[in-house]
Amino acid sequence: MERLDGQVAIVTGASRGIGRAVAKELADHGASVVVNYFQSKDEADALVKEITADGSQAIAVRAGVGHPDDVQKLVEITVEEYERIDILVNNAGVNRDRTIRRMSADEWQEVINTDLNSAFYCTNAVIPHMIERSYGRIINMSSIIGQMGNVGQSNYAAAKAGLVAFTKSAAQELARYNITVNAMCPGFIETDMVLALSDEVKDALIAKIPLGRFGRPEEVATFIRYLVTEGDWITGQQLNPNGGMYMY
Ligand code: NAP
Repeated sequence: MERLDGQVAIVTGASRGIGRAVAKELADHGASVVVNYFQSKDEADALVKEITADGSQAIAVRAGVGHPDDVQKLVEITVEEYERIDILVNNAGVNRDRTIRRMSADEWQEVINTDLNSAFYCTNAVIPHMIERSYGRIINMSSIIGQMGNVGQSNYAAAKAGLVAFTKSAAQELARYNITVNAMCPGFIETDMVLALSDEVKDALIAKIPLGRFGRPEEVATFIRYLVTEGDWITGQQLNPNGGMYMY
């Protein structure tokens, strides 16, 4: 397995859940990691402590990914600290579930801004540094919901489907610079986002998963690590760790 020694990764929303597992996995394989967070400072600091205790480098940087100025600062801090950026994982996301009839414009816009616009802001800010070195690996965290749709998640589904279209366009624009761009579309993964559901809803979801369980954050993280270490000829794709719930 190729290691990531000397490479630098920004993982957005790395204080908890899938982003945390991705940051840890990349650091365990030698990358220096920028642990982006928004509200969960203590969790981000704890992860940095864990990574550095294990012998890799990491810093925690607060930035709201839906704010272009914050994102610009996140990238500036990364380059000041580590002088390069090889990997960007656009992972941060929120959901504000409600049926279309009841959804407010604010709930629509918050999800589109945090889950979709953020990928543009981060990619736009990072690619000059990748182009300079003719290398980059970008992963956009979409979702099975962007492929299937879901009752009460029209904002989230639209943002996640938009991320797939963004991924394909970015992959075509950036291939000439040896920058690959892929979308990860996980099914239901055991994180705060899913554990917050009622037991009844969780049981109904598990009944729809052929492999009979939710996924683990680490299972998404290892897939992402594979992409950045072995995926030199993979770009513009939707990758589907979902327990077979949706066979694309
Ligand atoms: P989670 O446990 O709720 O964690 C969300 C992360 O995003 C946190 O680290 C949070 O940081 C960060 N975040 C939220 N708003 C942010 C903002 N404005 N700026 C920067 N960071 C922000 O979620 P998760 O389940 O790990 O999901 C991670 C990604 O995977 C999301 O994009 C989600 O849509 C996607 N996904 C999840 C599942 C699933 O089943 N869990 C399935 C498919 C796709 P703070 O706590 O520091 O604010």
